[in-house]
Amino acid sequence: MLEKTRLTPNMIRFVMGGADLEGFESPAPDDHIKLVFPVAGEEKPVMREYTPRAYDAAAQTLVLDFAVHDAGPATQWAIDANVGDTLTIAGPRGSAVLSPVFDWYLLIGDETALPAMGRWVEEMAAGTQVITLGLVTDAAEEQQFTSKAALDARWLHRPDATDAAPVLDAVAAIDLPAGRGFIWMAAEAKVARALRDHFQHDRQHPLTDMKAAGYWTQGQADTSDKAM
Ligand SMILES: Cc1cc2nc3c(=O)[nH]c(=O)nc-3n(C[C@H](O)[C@H](O)[C@H](O)COP(=O)(O)OP(=O)(O)OC[C@H]3O[C@@H](n4cnc5c(N)ncnc54)[C@H](O)[C@@H]3O)c2cc1C
Repeated sequence: MLEKTRLTPNMIRFVMGGADLEGFESPAPDDHIKLVFPVAGEEKPVMREYTPRAYDAAAQTLVLDFAVHDAGPATQWAIDANVGDTLTIAGPRGSAVLSPVFDWYLLIGDETALPAMGRWVEEMAAGTQVITLGLVTDAAEEQQFTSKAALDARWLHRPDATDAAPVLDAVAAIDLPAGRGFIWMAAEAKVARALRDHFQHDRQHPLTDMKAAGYWTQGQADTSDKAM
């Protein structure tokens, strides 16, 4: 690891680097890689999923952002890690690259989804119409994304990351632009499911033009639901 910084009070950014990154590829902004953590007392190392926030092939650097919460092995590693430490990674596998048929994009996600959202808007072509809704605890957790897209960045401050109600209220206030749009949602599994149901049933948005993913599940370690 080359650098460790606090992006916000509860988001730790790492720049990983080295010749071992040779050949690493990550075509899609919501790709994920498996990070492998040795855990004392466990026979097998544990694995957790994280987003390649940025990859620079020429410089051989990979940026990873860790949301800090009640610590499992991944979060504990992020809290304790020091420059010079190493990390074993695997993947990504099965990138889902969207064809550019959409007039607009709506990206909604909690702290664990901000790496994918940030990368996505930063990689978008100039002028692409995109609305982001970041779900965070307070203003200090908001991030600035640099983008050539026509970005409308909104934030919802909600104390409880597992409560869908304030998120649904905020989403109900969003007027969807005209034309064909793609909606991407990633958050705690229950919240992601409630969002998907809202767009599918209340807004009649086609399922083919949206993707919802549970990036974690309250009370369960290492759980994701990527195919809602
Ligand atoms: C495709 C994908 C990409 C992801 N990318 C990122 C990323 O770039 N950055 C990132 O920070 N996370 C990301 N996540 C989420 C991350 O994998 C989980 O939060 C993971 O469970 C954290 O591992 P842990 O070892 O800290 O906790 P675990 O051992 O898995 O869980 C311990 C406890 O913490 C709870 N918990 C887990 N996550 C959270 C949370 N976010 N808030 C509150 N409680 C939680 C669990 O419910 C459990 O009770 C991604 C998940 C997926 C599926």
